[in-house]
Amino acid sequence: ALHNDLVELKGNIRVHCRIRPLLPFDTESGDPAFQKRSLSLSEKVVHATDDETVLVRCSRPGHTLFNKTFQFERVYSPLESQKIVFGDVCPLLTSLLDGYNVCIMTYGQTGSGKSHTMLGPHSESDPVSPSEADQEMGIIPRAAGELFRLLSENPTINPRVEVSVVEIYNNELFDLLTKDSSGIFGVKRDVITTKEGKSNVPLLTYEHVECPAEFMKLINKSLQLRVKHPTLVHADSSRSHLVVTVTLTIAVPFDSFDQQLSQKLCEEMLCTTQKVKTSEKAGFCPRGLSPAPIPLDPTEQQKQVQAKLQLVDLAGSECIGMSGVTGTILRETSFINRSLAALADVLGALSEHRGHIPYRNSKLTHLLQDSIGGDAKLLVMLCVSPCQKYLAETLQSLGFGSRAR
Ligand code: ADP
Repeated sequence: ALHNDLVELKGNIRVHCRIRPLLPFDTESGDPAFQKRSLSLSEKVVHATDDETVLVRCSRPGHTLFNKTFQFERVYSPLESQKIVFGDVCPLLTSLLDGYNVCIMTYGQTGSGKSHTMLGPHSESDPVSPSEADQEMGIIPRAAGELFRLLSENPTINPRVEVSVVEIYNNELFDLLTKDSSGIFGVKRDVITTKEGKSNVPLLTYEHVECPAEFMKLINKSLQLRVKHPTLVHADSSRSHLVVTVTLTIAVPFDSFDQQLSQKLCEEMLCTTQKVKTSEKAGFCPRGLSPAPIPLDPTEQQKQVQAKLQLVDLAGSECIGMSGVTGTILRETSFINRSLAALADVLGALSEHRGHIPYRNSKLTHLLQDSIGGDAKLLVMLCVSPCQKYLAETLQSLGFGSRAR
């Protein structure tokens, strides 16, 4: 409980930064000119100086070219394991069971470790031995395990867990769990705002799962189907956003529900008061109680509470210039730039406590609307490479993260 209180006081948007290890491909290149320079380009210039600070420092003998620090709620050095990263994600699952919407997203350039952080080893070029497989599991499989573990500890709440998997490519949304009449998976869907002001995707497939293995089977199936989709088949997966949405519906007895509700109200009042007093780290004020409890049959003395967990592997944020780029790449790049800019705008509006939050400027932010802002809890995991070669991209990601806080 103490840990959760601390999480509460840190505000609803937290930004963590993970520096990946130096990898063989950081130094590999077929280009001899590059080979010559690669020694300095693969030099490590991004460091975790403590568990809240990133130092970016490049120097040549005799003078410093660049020297800047960035502060985040947590910074992981390249040595820190998947287990340690998940340890900081875990309290968010407790929040989910308390009825809060939660979003966890990975942001960074292609190759910075987003999918590794979210999923773990995930492609054929990424083989792992069975003994390593458990250790190397990312946030999604660990969250599936932890969610069902927490639910099993609380057998009275009668949970229902449903999962949807969506891909956003060129500002179009594809349901990866369903096929159209001609048997093609990944049917195009749209996102709307309901009368209650919630984001909703009509006809989106939600599959009911009862254990972590079923959960992961669904995720793996959708990732395999993705590569067969006609629109996506030629697209590199780093050019699209992947959004896994988990809805948790629990039935809570009236008594215990009212108790939880009053506890949540107290916490929110505490959070609001603390926010005025404490540093900017406290984030923005909770907007109110969301999601609203849906009354069940009163004779059953239960209420249903629904909460949503969204797990997002964003498209690569690399700074691809528009000059000289044509056709598909130009189209993809401009859509990625626009959706990541829309995300930055939403986070900026929230951190400045602006009244209007521009969720509807992209499908990505519209889809994530319920789990970003209000009293929902967002964790942005910035993924960065340590080497000089990617300095521009790393600084861009660190800048995005700093502005989001
Ligand atoms: P992205 O999703 O950002 O494009 P990936 O997650 O595919 O990047 O990572 C690129 C490569 O780096 C993969 O081979 C991955 O296994 C490796 N990698 C990334 N982060 C780590 C890490 N923390 N430890 C070990 N290998 C990593």
